[in-house]
Amino acid sequence: MKRGTFPSPASRFDSVGFSEIVNVRNRVLELLELGETVWRFEGGEPYMPTPQSVKDAMQRALQRNQTRYAPSSGLPELRTAIVAKVARRNGIPADRESPIVVNGGMHGLFAAFATLLNPGDEVLVFSPYWTPIVDVIAYHDAVPVRVPTADARREGIYRTLERALTPRTKVLYWNSPANPTGHVFTRAAVEEMSRFVFDNGLAVISDEAYEDLIYEGEGHVSPASLPGMEERTISVFTFSKTYSMTGWRAGYVIVPERYRTAMRTVVLYSINGVSTPTQWAALEALTLPDEFLREAKEGYRRRRDRLAAGLAAAGFEGETPRAALYLFPKIPSYLGEDSKTAAQTLLDSARVATVPGIVFGPEGEGHLRFSFSVSEDMIAGGIQALATLAGRELQTR
Ligand code: PMP
Repeated sequence: MKRGTFPSPASRFDSVGFSEIVNVRNRVLELLELGETVWRFEGGEPYMPTPQSVKDAMQRALQRNQTRYAPSSGLPELRTAIVAKVARRNGIPADRESPIVVNGGMHGLFAAFATLLNPGDEVLVFSPYWTPIVDVIAYHDAVPVRVPTADARREGIYRTLERALTPRTKVLYWNSPANPTGHVFTRAAVEEMSRFVFDNGLAVISDEAYEDLIYEGEGHVSPASLPGMEERTISVFTFSKTYSMTGWRAGYVIVPERYRTAMRTVVLYSINGVSTPTQWAALEALTLPDEFLREAKEGYRRRRDRLAAGLAAAGFEGETPRAALYLFPKIPSYLGEDSKTAAQTLLDSARVATVPGIVFGPEGEGHLRFSFSVSEDMIAGGIQALATLAGRELQTR
Protein backbone atom coordinates (compact mmCIF):
# COMPACT_ATOMS: atom_id res chain seq x y z
CA MET A 1 0.00 0.00 0.00
CA LYS A 2 2.70 2.46 1.04
CA ARG A 3 5.04 1.74 -1.85
CA GLY A 4 5.89 4.88 -3.83
CA THR A 5 4.02 7.27 -1.48
CA PHE A 6 5.67 10.05 0.51
CA PRO A 7 5.30 11.11 4.14
CA SER A 8 3.74 14.58 4.43
CA PRO A 9 5.43 17.45 6.28
CA ALA A 10 4.66 17.57 10.01
CA SER A 11 1.08 18.63 10.64
CA ARG A 12 2.18 21.48 12.92
CA PHE A 13 2.84 23.45 9.75
CA ASP A 14 -0.84 23.32 8.80
CA SER A 15 -1.53 26.38 10.95
CA VAL A 16 1.75 28.22 10.35
CA GLY A 17 1.88 30.96 7.70
CA PHE A 18 4.88 32.08 5.68
CA SER A 19 5.81 35.75 5.90
CA GLU A 20 3.58 37.94 3.73
CA ILE A 21 6.33 40.57 3.79
CA VAL A 22 8.51 38.18 1.81
CA ASN A 23 5.77 38.04 -0.85
CA VAL A 24 5.82 41.84 -1.12
CA ARG A 25 9.60 41.78 -1.47
CA ASN A 26 9.37 39.18 -4.21
CA ARG A 27 6.99 41.37 -6.23
CA VAL A 28 9.40 44.29 -5.84
CA LEU A 29 12.33 42.18 -6.99
CA GLU A 30 10.40 41.12 -10.09
CA LEU A 31 9.83 44.78 -11.01
CA LEU A 32 13.48 45.63 -10.42
CA GLU A 33 14.50 42.78 -12.65
CA LEU A 34 12.38 44.29 -15.41
CA GLY A 35 14.43 47.46 -15.06
CA GLU A 36 11.73 49.47 -13.26
CA THR A 37 12.49 52.05 -10.58
CA VAL A 38 10.77 51.15 -7.31
CA TRP A 39 10.55 53.46 -4.28
CA ARG A 40 11.14 50.93 -1.58
CA PHE A 41 9.58 51.41 1.85
CA GLU A 42 8.68 47.77 2.49
CA GLY A 43 11.89 46.83 4.32
CA GLY A 44 12.88 46.90 7.95
CA GLU A 45 16.62 47.34 8.13
CA PRO A 46 18.95 50.09 9.32
CA TYR A 47 19.99 52.31 6.41
CA MET A 48 23.63 52.51 7.57
CA PRO A 49 26.37 49.95 6.98
CA THR A 50 27.76 47.94 9.91
CA PRO A 51 30.34 50.05 11.81
CA GLN A 52 33.91 49.52 10.58
CA SER A 53 35.24 48.57 14.03
CA VAL A 54 32.78 45.66 14.16
CA LYS A 55 33.91 44.41 10.75
CA ASP A 56 37.55 44.77 11.85
CA ALA A 57 36.85 42.71 14.97
CA MET A 58 35.54 39.84 12.85
CA GLN A 59 38.64 40.03 10.67
CA ARG A 60 40.89 39.99 13.74
CA ALA A 61 39.08 36.92 15.02
CA LEU A 62 39.68 35.15 11.72
CA GLN A 63 43.35 36.06 11.73
CA ARG A 64 43.72 34.78 15.28
CA ASN A 65 42.05 31.51 14.29
CA GLN A 66 39.19 32.16 16.70
CA THR A 67 37.16 29.90 14.50
CA ARG A 68 36.42 26.90 16.69
CA TYR A 69 33.39 25.92 18.75
CA ALA A 70 32.55 28.38 21.48
CA PRO A 71 30.46 27.23 24.48
CA SER A 72 26.98 26.68 23.04
CA SER A 73 25.47 29.45 25.20
CA GLY A 74 28.11 31.97 24.12
CA LEU A 75 31.71 33.14 24.58
CA PRO A 76 32.40 33.94 28.23
CA GLU A 77 33.87 37.34 27.23
CA LEU A 78 30.72 38.27 25.35
CA ARG A 79 28.41 37.02 28.08
CA THR A 80 30.30 39.10 30.66
CA ALA A 81 29.94 42.20 28.48
CA ILE A 82 26.22 41.47 28.06
CA VAL A 83 25.72 41.26 31.84
CA ALA A 84 27.37 44.68 32.18
CA LYS A 85 25.34 46.14 29.30
CA VAL A 86 21.95 45.05 30.62
CA ALA A 87 22.85 46.27 34.11
CA ARG A 88 23.96 49.69 32.85
CA ARG A 89 21.52 50.39 30.05
CA ASN A 90 18.45 48.30 30.94
CA GLY A 91 18.65 48.08 34.73
CA ILE A 92 18.14 44.31 34.52
CA PRO A 93 19.76 42.39 37.37
CA ALA A 94 21.73 39.61 35.69
CA ASP A 95 24.44 37.20 36.80
CA ARG A 96 27.00 35.49 34.59
CA GLU A 97 24.61 32.60 33.92
CA SER A 98 21.70 34.81 32.78
CA PRO A 99 22.68 35.53 29.16
CA ILE A 100 22.53 33.10 26.27
CA VAL A 101 23.89 34.24 22.92
CA VAL A 102 21.46 33.47 20.09
CA ASN A 103 21.33 33.70 16.34
CA GLY A 104 19.46 37.04 16.25
CA GLY A 105 16.20 38.21 17.76
CA MET A 106 14.08 35.81 15.72
CA HIS A 107 16.00 32.85 17.11
CA GLY A 108 15.86 34.25 20.65
CA LEU A 109 12.10 34.57 20.36
CA PHE A 110 11.72 31.11 18.88
CA ALA A 111 13.80 29.63 21.70
CA ALA A 112 11.83 31.59 24.32
CA PHE A 113 8.48 30.33 23.05
CA ALA A 114 9.89 26.79 22.75
CA THR A 115 11.02 27.05 26.38
CA LEU A 116 7.62 28.06 27.72
CA LEU A 117 4.81 26.74 25.54
CA ASN A 118 2.84 23.53 25.73
CA PRO A 119 0.18 22.68 23.15
CA GLY A 120 -3.02 24.59 23.89
CA ASP A 121 -1.35 27.34 25.95
CA GLU A 122 -2.52 30.85 25.20
CA VAL A 123 -0.23 33.82 24.59
CA LEU A 124 -1.42 37.41 24.89
CA VAL A 125 -0.17 39.47 21.94
CA PHE A 126 -0.81 43.18 21.50
CA SER A 127 -2.13 43.84 18.01
CA PRO A 128 -1.00 45.07 15.52
CA TYR A 129 1.99 42.80 16.06
CA TRP A 130 5.19 41.80 14.28
CA THR A 131 3.84 39.10 11.95
CA PRO A 132 6.14 36.13 12.71
CA ILE A 133 5.08 36.07 16.37
CA VAL A 134 1.69 34.48 15.79
CA ASP A 135 3.27 31.90 13.48
CA VAL A 136 5.95 30.97 16.00
CA ILE A 137 3.22 30.55 18.63
CA ALA A 138 1.18 28.41 16.22
CA TYR A 139 4.26 26.35 15.42
CA HIS A 140 4.27 25.28 19.07
CA ASP A 141 0.58 24.30 18.84
CA ALA A 142 -0.21 27.18 21.16
CA VAL A 143 -2.76 29.94 20.61
CA PRO A 144 -2.10 33.65 20.09
CA VAL A 145 -4.81 35.79 21.72
CA ARG A 146 -4.91 39.30 20.29
CA VAL A 147 -5.14 42.32 22.58
CA PRO A 148 -5.89 45.50 20.62
CA THR A 149 -3.21 48.08 21.48
CA ALA A 150 -5.68 50.88 20.75
CA ASP A 151 -8.04 49.52 23.46
CA ALA A 152 -5.16 49.25 25.93
CA ARG A 153 -4.18 52.86 25.28
CA ARG A 154 -7.78 54.05 25.60
CA GLU A 155 -9.07 51.93 28.45
CA GLY A 156 -5.92 50.95 30.32
CA ILE A 157 -3.55 48.03 30.02
CA TYR A 158 -4.78 46.02 33.01
CA ARG A 159 -8.47 46.08 32.05
CA THR A 160 -7.78 45.28 28.43
CA LEU A 161 -5.49 42.38 29.25
CA GLU A 162 -7.99 41.05 31.78
CA ARG A 163 -10.65 40.74 29.08
CA ALA A 164 -8.37 38.42 27.08
CA LEU A 165 -7.34 36.27 30.06
CA THR A 166 -8.46 32.62 30.33
CA PRO A 167 -7.34 29.71 32.52
CA ARG A 168 -5.06 28.68 29.63
CA THR A 169 -3.17 31.99 29.45
CA LYS A 170 0.50 31.40 30.20
CA VAL A 171 2.65 34.03 28.47
CA LEU A 172 2.44 37.69 27.50
CA TYR A 173 4.46 38.80 24.46
CA TRP A 174 5.59 42.39 24.97
CA ASN A 175 7.20 44.45 22.22
CA SER A 176 8.18 48.02 23.04
CA PRO A 177 9.13 49.97 20.97
CA ALA A 178 6.75 48.12 18.68
CA ASN A 179 6.84 47.03 15.09
CA PRO A 180 4.82 48.13 13.07
CA THR A 181 3.38 51.10 15.01
CA GLY A 182 6.53 52.52 16.66
CA HIS A 183 4.50 52.76 19.86
CA VAL A 184 6.56 53.01 23.06
CA PHE A 185 4.89 51.92 26.27
CA THR A 186 5.59 54.32 29.15
CA ARG A 187 7.01 53.28 32.52
CA ALA A 188 3.49 53.53 33.95
CA ALA A 189 2.26 51.10 31.27
CA VAL A 190 5.09 48.65 31.98
CA GLU A 191 4.22 48.81 35.69
CA GLU A 192 0.56 48.11 34.96
CA MET A 193 1.47 45.17 32.73
CA SER A 194 3.81 43.84 35.43
CA ARG A 195 1.06 43.98 38.03
CA PHE A 196 -1.19 42.02 35.67
CA VAL A 197 1.31 39.26 34.97
CA PHE A 198 2.19 39.00 38.67
CA ASP A 199 -1.48 38.82 39.71
CA ASN A 200 -2.09 36.05 37.20
CA GLY A 201 1.15 34.10 37.49
CA LEU A 202 2.18 34.63 33.85
CA ALA A 203 5.58 34.80 32.15
CA VAL A 204 6.66 37.61 29.82
CA ILE A 205 8.64 37.35 26.61
CA SER A 206 9.95 40.86 26.09
CA ASP A 207 11.08 41.66 22.57
CA GLU A 208 13.42 44.65 22.87
CA ALA A 209 14.70 44.73 19.28
CA TYR A 210 14.15 48.51 18.99
CA GLU A 211 15.27 49.48 22.51
CA ASP A 212 17.85 51.96 21.23
CA LEU A 213 15.81 53.57 18.47
CA ILE A 214 13.72 56.05 20.47
CA TYR A 215 13.96 59.59 19.10
CA GLU A 216 12.33 61.73 21.75
CA GLY A 217 10.43 61.61 25.05
CA GLU A 218 10.65 58.99 27.77
CA GLY A 219 13.28 56.31 27.20
CA HIS A 220 13.03 52.55 26.98
CA VAL A 221 11.87 50.61 30.04
CA SER A 222 12.80 46.92 30.22
CA PRO A 223 10.10 44.94 32.04
CA ALA A 224 12.77 42.82 33.77
CA SER A 225 14.12 45.96 35.46
CA LEU A 226 10.97 46.19 37.61
CA PRO A 227 11.12 44.55 41.04
CA GLY A 228 10.56 40.80 40.81
CA MET A 229 9.98 40.84 37.06
CA GLU A 230 13.44 39.42 36.33
CA GLU A 231 12.12 36.12 37.70
CA ARG A 232 9.33 35.85 35.14
CA THR A 233 10.67 37.68 32.06
CA ILE A 234 12.75 36.34 29.20
CA SER A 235 14.24 39.49 27.64
CA VAL A 236 15.19 39.16 23.97
CA PHE A 237 17.77 41.50 22.43
CA THR A 238 19.38 41.70 19.00
CA PHE A 239 22.42 43.38 17.44
CA SER A 240 20.47 43.77 14.18
CA LYS A 241 18.86 47.18 14.54
CA THR A 242 21.04 49.08 17.01
CA TYR A 243 24.30 48.26 15.24
CA SER A 244 23.15 47.75 11.62
CA MET A 245 23.96 44.05 11.87
CA THR A 246 20.86 42.41 10.38
CA GLY A 247 22.89 40.00 8.28
CA TRP A 248 25.25 38.92 11.05
CA ARG A 249 22.55 37.03 12.93
CA ALA A 250 23.48 37.79 16.51
CA GLY A 251 21.45 38.52 19.61
CA TYR A 252 21.11 37.49 23.23
CA VAL A 253 18.47 36.60 25.77
CA ILE A 254 18.44 37.23 29.52
CA VAL A 255 16.81 34.24 31.13
CA PRO A 256 15.41 33.73 34.65
CA GLU A 257 17.02 30.87 36.47
CA ARG A 258 14.03 28.53 36.34
CA TYR A 259 13.98 28.59 32.54
CA ARG A 260 17.71 28.44 31.86
CA THR A 261 18.21 24.71 31.46
CA ALA A 262 15.32 24.42 29.01
CA MET A 263 16.45 27.42 27.00
CA ARG A 264 20.08 26.32 26.87
CA THR A 265 18.86 22.96 25.61
CA VAL A 266 16.85 24.59 22.79
CA VAL A 267 19.87 26.66 21.76
CA LEU A 268 22.20 23.66 21.94
CA TYR A 269 20.02 21.49 19.72
CA SER A 270 18.97 24.21 17.28
CA ILE A 271 22.32 25.92 16.58
CA ASN A 272 24.92 24.67 19.07
CA GLY A 273 26.09 28.23 19.41
CA VAL A 274 26.49 31.32 17.25
CA SER A 275 29.46 31.50 14.86
CA THR A 276 32.58 32.29 16.94
CA PRO A 277 33.97 35.15 14.76
CA THR A 278 30.49 36.75 14.80
CA GLN A 279 30.53 36.69 18.60
CA TRP A 280 33.87 38.54 18.70
CA ALA A 281 32.38 41.13 16.38
CA ALA A 282 29.28 41.40 18.60
CA LEU A 283 31.54 41.99 21.60
CA GLU A 284 33.13 44.89 19.73
CA ALA A 285 29.69 46.35 18.98
CA LEU A 286 28.95 46.51 22.71
CA THR A 287 32.01 48.71 23.21
CA LEU A 288 30.91 51.36 20.67
CA PRO A 289 30.60 54.78 22.34
CA ASP A 290 27.17 56.30 22.98
CA GLU A 291 28.12 58.90 20.35
CA PHE A 292 27.61 56.26 17.65
CA LEU A 293 23.95 55.86 18.57
CA ARG A 294 23.36 59.59 18.94
CA GLU A 295 24.49 60.14 15.35
CA ALA A 296 22.53 57.18 14.00
CA LYS A 297 19.37 58.43 15.71
CA GLU A 298 19.83 61.89 14.25
CA GLY A 299 19.75 60.30 10.79
CA TYR A 300 16.67 58.25 11.58
CA ARG A 301 14.80 61.20 13.03
CA ARG A 302 15.51 63.35 9.96
CA ARG A 303 14.27 60.59 7.64
CA ARG A 304 11.18 59.99 9.74
CA ASP A 305 10.22 63.66 9.70
CA ARG A 306 10.74 64.05 5.95
CA LEU A 307 8.73 60.97 5.10
CA ALA A 308 5.98 61.88 7.59
CA ALA A 309 5.66 65.33 5.99
CA GLY A 310 5.52 63.84 2.49
CA LEU A 311 2.91 61.29 3.50
CA ALA A 312 0.77 63.94 5.16
CA ALA A 313 0.91 66.04 1.98
CA ALA A 314 -0.33 63.01 0.00
CA GLY A 315 -3.28 62.55 2.36
CA PHE A 316 -1.92 59.85 4.69
CA GLU A 317 -2.91 60.61 8.27
CA GLY A 318 -1.43 59.16 11.41
CA GLU A 319 0.63 59.75 14.52
CA THR A 320 4.34 60.24 13.97
CA PRO A 321 5.78 57.52 16.18
CA ARG A 322 8.69 58.38 18.44
CA ALA A 323 10.58 55.11 17.91
CA ALA A 324 11.57 52.20 15.65
CA LEU A 325 11.84 52.41 11.85
CA TYR A 326 8.27 52.71 10.59
CA LEU A 327 5.37 55.00 9.85
CA PHE A 328 1.99 53.30 9.98
CA PRO A 329 -0.52 55.82 8.60
CA LYS A 330 -4.15 55.34 7.69
CA ILE A 331 -4.85 54.68 4.04
CA PRO A 332 -6.27 57.81 2.34
CA SER A 333 -9.78 57.35 0.97
CA TYR A 334 -8.65 57.65 -2.67
CA LEU A 335 -6.86 54.30 -2.22
CA GLY A 336 -9.87 52.52 -0.64
CA GLU A 337 -9.88 50.74 2.69
CA ASP A 338 -8.48 47.32 1.96
CA SER A 339 -4.75 47.41 2.72
CA LYS A 340 -3.72 44.68 0.28
CA THR A 341 -5.49 46.42 -2.59
CA ALA A 342 -4.07 49.79 -1.56
CA ALA A 343 -0.51 48.44 -1.39
CA GLN A 344 -0.96 46.85 -4.81
CA THR A 345 -2.32 50.10 -6.27
CA LEU A 346 0.62 52.05 -4.85
CA LEU A 347 3.05 49.60 -6.36
CA ASP A 348 1.28 49.46 -9.75
CA SER A 349 0.54 53.17 -10.17
CA ALA A 350 3.35 54.92 -8.30
CA ARG A 351 6.00 52.19 -7.94
CA VAL A 352 5.91 52.75 -4.19
CA ALA A 353 6.40 49.56 -2.16
CA THR A 354 4.79 49.27 1.29
CA VAL A 355 3.50 46.50 3.54
CA PRO A 356 -0.30 46.13 3.89
CA GLY A 357 -1.42 46.66 7.48
CA ILE A 358 -3.51 43.48 7.56
CA VAL A 359 -0.23 41.53 7.60
CA PHE A 360 0.20 42.75 11.20
CA GLY A 361 -3.18 41.45 12.31
CA PRO A 362 -6.82 42.55 11.84
CA GLU A 363 -6.10 45.61 14.01
CA GLY A 364 -3.61 46.74 11.35
CA GLU A 365 -6.18 46.77 8.53
CA GLY A 366 -6.77 50.20 7.02
CA HIS A 367 -3.09 51.09 7.37
CA LEU A 368 0.12 50.74 5.38
CA ARG A 369 3.61 50.35 6.81
CA PHE A 370 6.38 52.55 5.40
CA SER A 371 9.97 52.13 6.59
CA PHE A 372 11.76 55.47 6.84
CA SER A 373 15.10 53.71 7.23
CA VAL A 374 16.07 54.23 3.58
CA SER A 375 18.30 56.69 1.71
CA GLU A 376 17.21 60.31 1.59
CA ASP A 377 17.04 60.04 -2.20
CA MET A 378 14.58 57.18 -1.82
CA ILE A 379 12.45 59.32 0.47
CA ALA A 380 12.54 62.27 -1.95
CA GLY A 381 11.66 60.07 -4.94
CA GLY A 382 8.89 58.26 -3.06
CA ILE A 383 7.31 61.48 -1.86
CA GLN A 384 7.34 62.83 -5.41
CA ALA A 385 5.70 59.68 -6.76
CA LEU A 386 3.04 59.78 -4.03
CA ALA A 387 2.33 63.46 -4.65
CA THR A 388 1.84 62.80 -8.36
CA LEU A 389 -0.49 59.88 -7.65
CA ALA A 390 -2.46 61.84 -5.04
CA GLY A 391 -2.86 64.77 -7.44
CA ARG A 392 -4.11 62.48 -10.20
CA GLU A 393 -6.47 60.52 -7.97
CA LEU A 394 -7.96 63.59 -6.33
CA GLN A 395 -8.49 65.28 -9.70
CA THR A 396 -10.44 62.37 -11.14
CA ARG A 397 -12.97 62.42 -8.28
N1 PMP B 1 11.45 41.67 16.87
C1 PMP B 1 10.91 42.62 16.10
C2 PMP B 1 9.75 43.38 16.62
C3 PMP B 1 11.42 42.86 14.82
O1 PMP B 1 10.85 43.79 14.05
C4 PMP B 1 12.52 42.11 14.37
C5 PMP B 1 13.12 42.30 12.99
N2 PMP B 1 12.32 42.80 12.02
C6 PMP B 1 13.05 41.14 15.23
C7 PMP B 1 12.49 40.95 16.47
C8 PMP B 1 14.19 40.20 14.88
O2 PMP B 1 15.24 40.69 14.21
P1 PMP B 1 16.56 39.81 14.07
O3 PMP B 1 16.16 38.38 13.95
O4 PMP B 1 17.25 40.33 12.88
O5 PMP B 1 17.34 40.06 15.31
